[in-house]
Amino acid sequence: MSDLKRAYNFNPGPGVLPLEVLQQAQSEMLDFKGTGMSVMEISHRSKEFESVIQTAEADLRELLAIPANYKVMFLQGGAHLQFTMIPMNLRAAGVSADYIVTGTWSKTAIKEAQKLGATRSAANTEADGFKGLPDKLDLDPKAAYLHFTSNETIHGVEYFVEPTPPADVPLVCDASSDFISRPIDVSKYALIYAGAQKNAGPSGVTIVIERDDMIERTPANLPVMLDYKIMATSGSLHNTPPSWAIYMVGLVLQWAKKQGGLAAVEKTNRTKAGLVYDTINQSGGFYRGHAQTEARSLMNIPFRLPSEELEETFAKDAKKNSLIGLKGHRSVGGMRASLYNAMTVEGAQALVDFMKEFQKKNG
Ligand SMILES: *Cc1c(COP(=O)(O)O)cnc(C)c1O
Repeated sequence: MSDLKRAYNFNPGPGVLPLEVLQQAQSEMLDFKGTGMSVMEISHRSKEFESVIQTAEADLRELLAIPANYKVMFLQGGAHLQFTMIPMNLRAAGVSADYIVTGTWSKTAIKEAQKLGATRSAANTEADGFKGLPDKLDLDPKAAYLHFTSNETIHGVEYFVEPTPPADVPLVCDASSDFISRPIDVSKYALIYAGAQKNAGPSGVTIVIERDDMIERTPANLPVMLDYKIMATSGSLHNTPPSWAIYMVGLVLQWAKKQGGLAAVEKTNRTKAGLVYDTINQSGGFYRGHAQTEARSLMNIPFRLPSEELEETFAKDAKKNSLIGLKGHRSVGGMRASLYNAMTVEGAQALVDFMKEFQKKNG
């Protein structure tokens, strides 16, 4: 292991995983708990896998303090399939749903909902370049639900306080890129979903947390794989689940517990993001952050340099220094540093050291 060369991985997703998690998966790969098989090769109905999925759920419940009247599901189809399942399951015929549009992902979510029925935009910050959160919301008091995206992965805009829906309007959240990055009050939500591959594990599994009374709203005769009630009552085992991905999520959750839980995870995340934001702020305008200060994300930090030419050089030189995945999304341009839970403080420090050096040479 001494010659192990790991990159500093700033990829937006799939993203960095904790080294300890990868090492544990490696050590258990050929013989999982004395079965003589890998997790990928055992039955999803075996007692060994039952323990994997139940422990993952229990650890998630502990980390997020999920109340007893919520179900946890491990589904497939990515966050994208949730864009479809949510209106299918939660929006009764003739009722409209509200969406807050603060970036690419909520814009994608509302588009999918529009295909299936009545949908309103409660706010849309696109005209301002998706740089911040809306000042005010135009809310439908009769909406089937209010959907928001807690962290816009591409624009680097994050909600630290949930929007407040009208009384009796359930709050639904795409938390894909800041899931388990800090404690939240789950009881404020009717449904939370997150593709695991940003902060909670590998791709292939999407975690859905849904309140029981919402599950009761599931319409009859939905296609089985799109039916929350079937998925929830079967314990995500109606069909073969993504067993390896669930196992990996379980290891990540155990790792998060070992860090001291989500309050400790948040503290480290604030330290890392603080290093990068301070460097941007102290660069005299050489580096320019995309998001407004109040809304800037702890997870994804998009920033620009004085020219596209410099941005290209920055990405190339960074790569030479084992700083990987810093090229921004084409819709925002420039750079983006993704600092998910598994990014170490040392990695964030390596990035800001590089940024300062780069400015000295090119500023
Ligand atoms: C990545 C991402 C998605 C899309 O996830 P898939 O699992 O690829 O469908 C949706 N929402 C947010 C906030 C994301 O970061």
